[in-house]
Parts: sequence; C-alpha cells; structure tokens
Amino acid sequence: MTIIYERVALIGLGLIAGSMAHAMRRAKCAGEIVGTARSAETRAIAAEINLCDRITETAAEAVKGADLVVLCVPIGAMASVMAEIGPALKQGATLSDVGSVKQAVIDEVGPHVPEGVHFIPAHPLAGTEHSGPRSGFATLFDNRWNIIVPLEGADQTKVDQLTEFWTALGAKVTTMTPDHHDLVLAVTSHTPHLIAYTMVGVADDLARVTESEVVNFSAAGFRDFTRIAASDPTMWRDVFLTNKDATLEVLGRFTEELFALQRAIRQGDGDHLHAYFTRTRAVRRGIIEAGQDTAEPNFGRHPDGKV
Ligand code: NAP
Repeated sequence: MTIIYERVALIGLGLIAGSMAHAMRRAKCAGEIVGTARSAETRAIAAEINLCDRITETAAEAVKGADLVVLCVPIGAMASVMAEIGPALKQGATLSDVGSVKQAVIDEVGPHVPEGVHFIPAHPLAGTEHSGPRSGFATLFDNRWNIIVPLEGADQTKVDQLTEFWTALGAKVTTMTPDHHDLVLAVTSHTPHLIAYTMVGVADDLARVTESEVVNFSAAGFRDFTRIAASDPTMWRDVFLTNKDATLEVLGRFTEELFALQRAIRQGDGDHLHAYFTRTRAVRRGIIEAGQDTAEPNFGRHPDGKV
C-alpha cells in the first residue's frame, strides 16, 4: 500500500482513533501517526500499547506539520479542541472528524478553521459499546460505510485523498449533505439507541419488582438492548443534544407506530401484527443481503463485542 498522508494526527485516543491507528498500520498508508489525548492516563496507556508512533502532551503540538488531522473527541468537545489547534494547523492540511452528527460539528468547528486548511467532515458508521485507547482494533471499519460530507466549494483532490485514505482503512465511502446525514443516522442509529436506553431503564425499574429475574433470565432481544445501552454516556448525550430536530422527528413517528401496535394488541388484531412483523422481517433480510450484518447467531459478533 502507498503512503496517502505523510503525517496523520489523531486528536483523542479512544475507540475510533485507536481503530484508525491499527487500521493505518495494517494498510501502511501513513508515514507517521501522531496522537494526543486530554488525560495523562490515556496518553500513558496509548504509549504502553504503542498505539501511535509519537504521543504529544498537547493537541497543538500533535497537529504541527500534520497533513491530515482527525478530531476523534466527543462532539461537545470539538469547539474547544479547535480553538487550541486552529492556529497550529499546517497550510494545505486536511482537517476531518469522526463525529456522529454532522451539521453541529460543521457549526462548531467551521469558525475555527484557518484560511488554507481543508475542512472535510466525515463519519465512519462503525463502533462498539466499548471506549478508550485499549478498545480499538484494525478491522473495525472493514466493509462499513464512511460518510464524507464535503462542504460547498471543497477541493475535490482533497476529498479524493480522504476517500482513498478511508478506503485503505477498509471502509466503503459515500458522500451526503449534512442534513441528509443527520436524518439518516437519526433513523438508523440515534433513535434505536434511545429506544435501547429506555428499554433497559424500564427493565431496571422492573428488576426491583421481579427480584433480578430480568438479569438472570435475560433473553437475546433484551441482551442486545443492554449491549447498545452500555454505549458511552458522554458521546450519546452529545448526539441527542446536537441532532435534536431529526431525532425528535423520528421519535414522533416511532411513537405513532407504537400506539398503533398497542391498539392492535389490545383489540386482538393478529392480522395487523402479522403483516407488520412480516414487513420488518424483510428489512432484516435486506441488511444481510447488503453485507451490513450476518445471519449467524449473535449477528456474527465476537463475544467481547468486537465486530
Ligand atoms: P472514546 O473511546 O470515549 O474516546 C474519546 C476520546 O476523546 C478520549 O481520548 C478522551 O480523552 C477524549 N475526550 C473526551 N472528552 C474530551 C474533552 N472534553 N476534551 C478533549 N478530549 C476529550 O470515544 P469514541 O467512541 O472513540 O468516539 C469519538 C468520536 O467518534 C465521537 O465524536 C463519536 O461521536 C464518534 N463516533 C463514535 C462511534 C462509536 O460507536 N463509539 C462511532 C462513530 C463515530 P481521555 O481518554 O483523556 O478522557
């Protein structure tokens, strides 16, 4: 594989940055990987496991001379990180991010981007419920989509270079507008997470009534909810605070459908339930046929949650 960027700086060293570092090493597509994190503890762990070629104490130091800088921190932290690194970015460098919401990141980061730096937002649709520098692994992005959201007037050669980079990391790349991205993700990721958080919260309330039977006899459906609901609280708080409109729109529709199903159950309307479940079963088949999941037990995931 050829070098796509001579120096890549990762700001934040958690699941996504860690996986990027492993995948870059596998692809041999970066000349040097520089990383930094907010806490000394995370930086020490990253150094211990040799996650990057060089770890710096500050973000401003990390971005010096970097050809690609990727913001891998929670969305709510991006503006303050940008205020620190903005003046240190190299002329001609590409600045990108991995945030799960795009319009909010553009609003937060955009004002800090200096003239001559190419800001190209992106979002890899890959993750697990784990976080921190030890949770990354090289295959996280394999065959997963990465949505690049080029801004108006973006330099196409820089967009192509970032596309080539993510392809080298194993991803399939597509482009979208920020609004469209945020609506699609509200349907496919953000609202399902909220539903999982709610179901696990309800079960936790009931656990007091059922004397831990909820935990002891948890079936596959509930266990999948608990895996999703174990996701990082900071990241998901920021997702709902920043993708408010699209999530509320999808939640409104979800609530209407839920009421319709509730009425069908109350009225004993088996035809309605059967027709509904037949339609949703076809959606699952479509996802497997599109290569976005497997039909294996546990959806082909490793027991440790890695995909
Ligand atoms: P993570 O494992 O929790 O790591 C977050 C990193 O950000 C850590 O290095 C942390 O530093 C740093 N950080 C946290 N708060 C900060 C602050 N206020 N200022 C500066 N640095 C801060 O997170 P992740 O899962 O990799 O997520 C990172 C980004 O990827 C988020 O924007 C998220 O939306 C996006 N994303 C996540 C997933 C997923 O499934 N997890 C999928 C796609 C995209 P310390 O360790 O020193 O605290």
